[in-house]
Amino acid sequence: MRAEPLMRTRIRVEQDVFTVRQIGREVAREVGLESQDQTRLATALSEVGRLLVGAGRDADVVFTATLDGVPTLFVEMAHPVSGDSARLSAQLTQVGRLVDTMEVGDGETGTVVRMSRRLPPSSPALIPGRMDEIRERLSGHVPGTPLDELTVQNQQLIAALDEVRAQRDDLARLNAELEDTNRGVMALYHQLSDELEETNRGVVALYAELDEKSVQLRAASEAKSRFLANVSHELRAPVTAIIGLGRLLSDESSDKLTDEQARQVELIRSSATDLLSLVNDLLDLAKAEAGRIEPNWSDVDLKAVFGQLRGTLRPLATRPDVDFIVDEPAVPVLRSDEVLLAQVLRNLLTNAIKFTATGSVRLGVERVGDDVEFTVADTGTGIPPELHERIFEEFYQVPGSQALSGKGTGLGLPYARRLVAILGGAMRVTSTPGEGSTFVVSLPVSP
Ligand code: ADP
Repeated sequence: MRAEPLMRTRIRVEQDVFTVRQIGREVAREVGLESQDQTRLATALSEVGRLLVGAGRDADVVFTATLDGVPTLFVEMAHPVSGDSARLSAQLTQVGRLVDTMEVGDGETGTVVRMSRRLPPSSPALIPGRMDEIRERLSGHVPGTPLDELTVQNQQLIAALDEVRAQRDDLARLNAELEDTNRGVMALYHQLSDELEETNRGVVALYAELDEKSVQLRAASEAKSRFLANVSHELRAPVTAIIGLGRLLSDESSDKLTDEQARQVELIRSSATDLLSLVNDLLDLAKAEAGRIEPNWSDVDLKAVFGQLRGTLRPLATRPDVDFIVDEPAVPVLRSDEVLLAQVLRNLLTNAIKFTATGSVRLGVERVGDDVEFTVADTGTGIPPELHERIFEEFYQVPGSQALSGKGTGLGLPYARRLVAILGGAMRVTSTPGEGSTFVVSLPVSP
């Protein structure tokens, strides 16, 4: 839709260039362009006007505002001679930057310079019905003399220079601030990188210390195992000798002992037997810890192992209120070491029998994922939760726990856990005091 022009004028002589400049500024002001944009448009108009008059051309100048789409002010400056557009375009490249668009074209009626500037949202031209008022005011506008226009131009120049100076001062201030900030950032960066370096040095030192400590720890643990193995080995011979001598002393064929002597010899023998079992346990554990136990892998017939455990442990499970149950194995065969596996299960079952007064002690096995899980469950005294890890420490016995039969050394569980690790598995316990305990040994199907 072609809008009704806001204003028309004509440039014929040099003086008209001032007039068109004034009118341009007036139109720009009326449609709500801000002061700098008014000056820009006026300057663009006077430049085009100057070039045209310089080339001896008359030109019609038409101002239009369209509100369709993006509201925009258009100015067309046309003169009736075609063929000027290439030269004008070249001369107007700088001037074109003063407005949003500037095109020069050769039309049927001559050469046309068309420029546009978008209107601000606050433009009064956007208020319905205001366009006519604007048009009326513009038509009543009386152009000033070139001297008036020079005054206005000077004022604008002074204002623009002032603004430039203010902007330059602002820029200098901003630069100074930026420099300060940069200095601060650099200082912070240096401080942080110093701190980081120091922390790194600390961490490196800490790691070195840790490495050293773990070497020491390994050495100490090896020394302990060696010591245990040696001592228990050395103790075995004399203790066995004491037991033998005791047996000899109380033998029928020896000299008869008084009742008191016989009682004391029996005491010596039973103490020596306890000592021998402790020494044997220690030796086993030391061997396991020193890595001196190599599993003997074979396809273990679990039915046979369970049958053997049932046979050898039933004599220990003598309490009438306790059911000793060995399930039929749900897994018939497992690749493992038969002796070590039987040793682990025997330790767990012996413990369960020792600590269960009523209820049951039960051994079972089942396949769980890639593992085979052996379960030894009892309804005995149970173990407080905070001690579930401690019972796997050497010589640890739950304070106040009273084995109902047999004695203990506190070495059975650490030894069993060690053996399970050698077999490539893991052992865990769940237990509630007063309700019972369940020890689970889980071994991989293919170790
Ligand atoms: P011990 O030779 O004393 O049995 P273990 O290492 O086998 O040594 O067990 C350590 C301690 O763990 C035991 O003294 C006992 O206090 C506790 N314990 C082990 N098994 C059970 C169980 N089934 N029920 C209750 N307490 C148990």
